[in-house]
Amino acid sequence: MNQQPDKAMSAGARIGSGALGHLRPFLAFLRQRLSLLLVWPALALAAAIVLWGYVLFDLEHERIDRQAELEQQVDAYARSYVIRTRRSIGDTDRLLLLLRHQWASSGHRMDLAGTIETGIFSRQYIAAVALIDRFGGIVTSTHPQAVGMYVGDQAYFVEQQRAAGDKLYLSGPLDGRLSKREVIAFSRPLLAPDGQFEGVVLISVSPSFFTQHYAEPILREFGMVGLTRIDGAVVATRSGNAVHSFRAPFLRTAMPAEAAGVRRVGGQDWFADGRSRVLGWRSFPDLGLVGIVGVDEYSAMAPYREHRQSAIGGAWWNTAWIVLVTLLVTSFYVHAKWRRYQMEAIRSTYRLATEEAGEGFFINRPVRDAQGVVRDFEIADCNHFGADMFGKRPQELIGHRLSEFYQGELFDAACARLCQALDTGMYDRELEVHAGPDQLLRARWIRYKAVRAGGDLAVTIRDISESKAHLTELERRSNADELTGLPNRYWIQQFLPKAIERAQAAGQGLAVLFIDLDGFKTVNDALGHAAGDELLRTVGKRLKTAVRPRDHVVRLGGDEFVVVLEQTGGPADVEQVAGRVLGAFRDGFHLQRSTHVLNASIGISLFPEHGGDAETLLKHADIAMYSVKTEGKGQYRFFQSRFYEAIRTRLETEMEMRRALDQHQFVVHYQPRVDLSAGTASSMEALVRWERPGKELIGPDRFIPLAEETGLIVRLGEQVVDSVCRQLAHWARNGAVLVPVSVNVSPRQFSQCDILALFRDAIARHGIDPALLEIELTESSMMQEGIGESEVFGALRELGIKLCIDDFGTGYSSLSQLQRLRFDVLKIDRAFVLRIEHPEGDTLIASMIAMAHALGMRVVAEGVENQRQMQLLQTLGCDEGQGYFFSRPVPPGETQPVGRRAFQPAR
Ligand code: C2E
Ligand code: CA
Ligand code: CA
Repeated sequence: MNQQPDKAMSAGARIGSGALGHLRPFLAFLRQRLSLLLVWPALALAAAIVLWGYVLFDLEHERIDRQAELEQQVDAYARSYVIRTRRSIGDTDRLLLLLRHQWASSGHRMDLAGTIETGIFSRQYIAAVALIDRFGGIVTSTHPQAVGMYVGDQAYFVEQQRAAGDKLYLSGPLDGRLSKREVIAFSRPLLAPDGQFEGVVLISVSPSFFTQHYAEPILREFGMVGLTRIDGAVVATRSGNAVHSFRAPFLRTAMPAEAAGVRRVGGQDWFADGRSRVLGWRSFPDLGLVGIVGVDEYSAMAPYREHRQSAIGGAWWNTAWIVLVTLLVTSFYVHAKWRRYQMEAIRSTYRLATEEAGEGFFINRPVRDAQGVVRDFEIADCNHFGADMFGKRPQELIGHRLSEFYQGELFDAACARLCQALDTGMYDRELEVHAGPDQLLRARWIRYKAVRAGGDLAVTIRDISESKAHLTELERRSNADELTGLPNRYWIQQFLPKAIERAQAAGQGLAVLFIDLDGFKTVNDALGHAAGDELLRTVGKRLKTAVRPRDHVVRLGGDEFVVVLEQTGGPADVEQVAGRVLGAFRDGFHLQRSTHVLNASIGISLFPEHGGDAETLLKHADIAMYSVKTEGKGQYRFFQSRFYEAIRTRLETEMEMRRALDQHQFVVHYQPRVDLSAGTASSMEALVRWERPGKELIGPDRFIPLAEETGLIVRLGEQVVDSVCRQLAHWARNGAVLVPVSVNVSPRQFSQCDILALFRDAIARHGIDPALLEIELTESSMMQEGIGESEVFGALRELGIKLCIDDFGTGYSSLSQLQRLRFDVLKIDRAFVLRIEHPEGDTLIASMIAMAHALGMRVVAEGVENQRQMQLLQTLGCDEGQGYFFSRPVPPGETQPVGRRAFQPAR
C-alpha cells in the first residue's frame, strides 16, 4: 500500500527532469541567438513608435486647428453680439428721444402711468420710464406712486445736469427706486429751446436687456455674454439661462485694455463657475462699452475629444495587433530556425559519423523550375570522404549543381534516382558504376542510399567494390581476379577437382590453405578502397613469393585467399609453407605514407585426411580458418572434426535453448545508468543471462544471435519482460523508491510478435507503473523491416514507456526518422566511448550530444570503464553514463541494485 507515494514520487521526478531535458537545449539555442528573438520585437517596437507618433502628431495638429477655428468663431460671435446690442441700445435711445419730443410737443403735459401695462414699452426689458424736472423730482412715471420722488442725487441725473449738451447716459447696475429691481438706467437731458437744462428723461432696463442676444444654439449651457464699461464696471453678464446680479459678479477680472481680441482664459480668477472659456471682446468706444462673448472650451472641444478618444482607442487596438502578430511571427520564426538548427545538428553528426565509417555523405537539395518540376539538384553539404569519392574537395562540391558535374545520360540517371527518393521517401540500391571519361566516381560498385529529410535528400554512398557479391559478378567473366591478377574462385572450382584426381592417381598428398586477412576491413574503411586495393595487390604478390613456384595462389574474393599445394610430403611440409605465408605478413604494409601491420589467419585441410573432394576440402579449410579467427588470429591450424562440431553444437544449442526457455533458465541482471551531474542511478538496463544448472553463466552475445535466427527471441523476450515486471513489483513491495528499467528489444520481436500487447499485459499482470519501463532498440534495427514506420512506438509512448536508441553511431538511421520517432534517450555506442581519448574522438561524441539535445533526447554513454572517460563525458555535457566504472551488471537482490554508493561525480 505504502509504495504508492514512492512510485508517484519517482515518476514525478522523472517527468520533471525529462521536461527540463527537452527545454534545456532549446534555451541554450535561444541564448546563443538572442538577436533572433529580438529582431521581430524590435521591428514591432519601431512600428508601434511610428504608429503612436503619427496618431499623436495628428491629434495635436487637429487640436491646434480646432482651437484656431474656435477662436475665429468666438471673434465672429463677439462682433455679432456687439452689433446687435448696439442696435438694442440705439432703439432704447430713440425711445428716449421720442419721449422727449412728445414731452415738448405736449407742452409738458404727459402721463406715463399705465404705459408699461398697455404694452407701449416692452414689459420684458423695460423696468421703468420717468420724466424728471430740473430739481430732481419725478414729474411722471410708469410707476405713479413715484411721482414727486426726489432722484436728483442719482448718477443718471447728476451726469446729465453736469454735462452741457445732449448726450446719452448709460449707468452701471443699480437698485431701481421705481421698479424695486436691479436695473441699468438710460437717460437724456430735457432741454429748453434755449438749451437750458430742464430735467431728464429716464428709461431703466433690466440687465437681461443686454444679454438678450445670447446666441443660445451656439453658446449653450456654459457659454457667456457680457457687457462692461470701459472703466471696468460690469453692466450685465449671462451664462446659460442665468443673468447674474451685480451683487454676485460672474466676471471676476477686468477685460484687457485692447479694443478687441480673443483669448483663452479660465479658472476661478476669471469666472464664478471656474470654467475655461475662449473669450472674444470688442469695445464700442462711443458708448464706452465692451461687449464680451465666451464659449465654453470643454463643450466646444467635445467633438475633438471624442475623436481623440477613438483615435487613441484605435491606436491601442493596432498596438495589440502588432503585439499579437509579433508574437506569432517570432514564434514561427524561432520555430523555423530551431528546425533548421536541429537539421543542421543531425547533418553535422552524420557528416562526422559517416566520415569515420568511410561513407560518403551528401545533402542534395532539389532545384525546381517555375512549374515546380525538379530540374536539377544542388549539393548543400557533403563530407570529406564523399568528396574524395569523386576526386574532389568538399568546397568544390558544396553549393554546386549536379548538372555542373554530369551531363547527358549520367545526369538523367542520377536525377531519376534522387527524384524517386523524393517521391517515395527512400532509395536504396547497390549500383554498378560504369566507367567512362565522364564518370567521376572512383568506385566500381556502390551502395547508394537516399533518404528524404525535410525537403532535402540525405545521400550516403558506400564503396562496396570489394564485397564478394559484386566481385562474383565481375569475375564470373574470367578466371583471373582483375585486381591482383591471381586466379579466382571460378578457376579453383575447375582446377581443384582435377588436382585431386591427379594426387589420387599418383598417391600423393594435397593441401588447401584458406587465408583470411585480419583487420583488412579496418584499413579499407579508414584509408579508402584505393588503399585497400593496393594492399590486396601487395598481399597477392607476397603470397606468390612465399609459396613454391608450383603452388597456386588464388584470390577467392574480398580479403580471402587460397593456396593449393600439390605433391606435399606430409603435414610438416605444409606447416613450413604455412609458416612462410605467415612470415610474409611480418613486414608492415606501406600505405599512404604510413605503415600498417596486418596478420592473416590460415586454416588448412589435407587430402585425403580431411576430405575427398574439392568442396569438402575448401569447406574444411574455411572452418579451420574460422576457428583460428575465433581463438587467436595470426596463426595457422589444421582442420579438426571438433571445429566441424562447432556447427553441430549450434543445432544442439538451439535445442538446449528451447529446453531452457521451458525451464526458465534465463535470468536478468541489472546494470545502473548513472546521472553524471547528480551521481545517482537514474535508470538501469535489464541484461539477460543463461544460467544452466551446474554450469557457468552464459552472456547474451553467445545466444541472442542464435535466438534471433531461430525465432526463439520472441519467447525469450516475453520471459525477459515478464521477469523485469515481476522484479519491479517485488522491489516496489519492499518499499524502495524505484528507478525505471530498460529492456532490450530485438527487431525480430517487432515483426514476429505484438510488442504493445506484450508490454501492456505484463504491466497489467504485475500491476506496475508503466513509467518504470523503457525500451532499447538498436539504431541499426530501426532501419530494418520498416520498423521505423511502425505505429507501435506512438502507442508505447502513450502507455508511458520511454524509448531509447541503443548502440547509436553504428546504424546510420535516416534523418527524418530520428526527427519523427521522437525517442527519449540516445545511447552512444561503446566503441565511441573507447575512442574518446583519441584525437577527434571527443568531437564526434560532442556532435552526437549536440544533435541529441537538439532533438530533445537525453544522452547516455555506454561502456564507461574509467574515471578519465567519465570526466571527459561530463565536460562534453553528456547526461548519463553506464559501464563497469560504475557497476557491472548484477543479479537482482531484495532491493533495486541502484549501486553500492552514490557515484561521486569528479569535480
Ligand atoms: P547492449 O544493449 O549494448 O548492452 C550493453 C552491454 O555492454 C552488456 O553486455 C554490458 O554488460 C556491457 N557493458 C556494460 N558496461 C560495460 C563496460 O564498461 N565495458 C564493457 N566492455 N562492456 C560493458 P551483455 O550483457 O553481454 O549484453 C550484450 C548485448 O546483448 C546487449 O548489448 C544487447 O544488445 C543484448 N541483450 C542483452 N539482453 C538482452 C535482452 O533481454 N533482449 C535482447 N533482445 N537483447 C539483449
Ligand atoms: Ca542495450
Ligand atoms: Ca548498447
